Amino acid sequence: MDEPVVRFPVKCPMCGQKSLVGFPLNTILQTLATDRPIKLHANCVYHRMVWVASDLERRQIRNYTAEVNCTPRRYALLLALA
Ligand SMILES: [Zn+2]
Repeated sequence: MDEPVVRFPVKCPMCGQKSLVGFPLNTILQTLATDRPIKLHANCVYHRMVWVASDLERRQIRNYTAEVNCTPRRYALLLALA
């Protein structure tokens, strides 16, 4: 299966260093749709942090997901979640 992956930057909560994380698109869509927490991890050189995405981070993830996946059906689904 060639599952699309959504990539977006996260900031390490400890030091603010940015890194890129990737999630399978279907996982993201299901998580956003069901209001389940999204666990983020920072690929920071100094810290190994795992945390749950805040409301702001969820919105950012939704925006990145919308930008990456512009098929009309997926876009409609994302709009419905917004
Ligand atoms: Zn850090």
